[in-house]
Amino acid sequence: MQPLEAKVHCEQWPESPLLKVAGLAEFAAGSFPTERMLLDLRDTQVRAAGSAICRLPWAGFLTDGPEHAPPDRPWIAVPQGAFKVDIGDVVELRPHTSKMALRYRRGSNNNILFTTERCNSYCLMCSQPPRKVDDGWRVSQLCNLIELIDKDAPSELLPASQTPSLGVMMKAEVANGNETDVQSGVQA
Ligand code: SF4
Repeated sequence: MQPLEAKVHCEQWPESPLLKVAGLAEFAAGSFPTERMLLDLRDTQVRAAGSAICRLPWAGFLTDGPEHAPPDRPWIAVPQGAFKVDIGDVVELRPHTSKMALRYRRGSNNNILFTTERCNSYCLMCSQPPRKVDDGWRVSQLCNLIELIDKDAPSELLPASQTPSLGVMMKAEVANGNETDVQSGVQA
């Protein structure tokens, strides 16, 4: 099984962004803001496009190593074999720990929107026992994530069934312009 998180090399990131990994097709489609995309300089077509494309206001660049990154711009380099990340995926970078996590895999049937750790079922065999933590921040993070999911992805993504009675509901309609409908509230 592929790891979903790995240590990376990264520089010049002021915050912890969610980023859409982009190639030329994502740039041409214009479906996502350039400022939220990570241009994949590992891609041969991107490299063949020349240096002018790097001058656009990308959030940053995905490279094989710092020597390939444009100067004075944010970049991420994934150590070989550490982590599989491809064009179309969405990743979250945490610069303070130099870690990158996969949040959406293009073409996968196993993408999960993780809504809360406050499950109140307490099943004996739970592999991830619930925790009483304030993780309401996850809702806005998921909204940000949904904005970067492919519009031709399966028409409905529902959260993992970890919250049977917490009253957290999220319906993400990504087929028609990333319309998002979120309701959140604790009913336990
Ligand atoms: S419903 Fe799922 S997350 Fe909640 S306690 Fe049971 S197994 Fe764990």
